[in-house]
Amino acid sequence: MTPKSPPPADCLFCRILRGEIPSTPLWQSEKTLIIADIAPQAPFHALVIPRRHAADIGEFMKEKGGPSELSDLFATALALIEDRRIDRKGYRLVINTGAEGGQTVGHLHLHLLAGRPLGWPPG
Ligand code: 5GP
Ligand code: ZN
Repeated sequence: MTPKSPPPADCLFCRILRGEIPSTPLWQSEKTLIIADIAPQAPFHALVIPRRHAADIGEFMKEKGGPSELSDLFATALALIEDRRIDRKGYRLVINTGAEGGQTVGHLHLHLLAGRPLGWPPG
């Protein structure tokens, strides 16, 4: 379970999506916005955020249209990956979910990490 599911009015990423909090946009589609992470964990660290609020992947997929929106999330990430040639050296897409999964913002997002060798297993 995700520990907190803020309503869109209070949600950090909904506020970024509405332009109430500044961000650095990197790419976008009708359903998805990609921004730079404010505390990058790799030389390239982006957040791939669906415009529709959902606390986590489970909640997102249960909504009508979830599967096609999830497809857009990955397709938009791949468009940026191809544009920046991030696929030449490799990258990691991560969805932290819930307290033990390391999720701190209760609005579904993919982390796109690249630019250095990424360790495994993760911490
Ligand atoms: P999570 O911990 O939920 O997997 O990921 C949340 C991410 O959001 C973290 O990597 C964190 O650095 C990032 N983050 C937190 N606040 C902000 C913010 O105000 N702007 C941006 N661009 N990223 C943020
Ligand atoms: Zn939200």
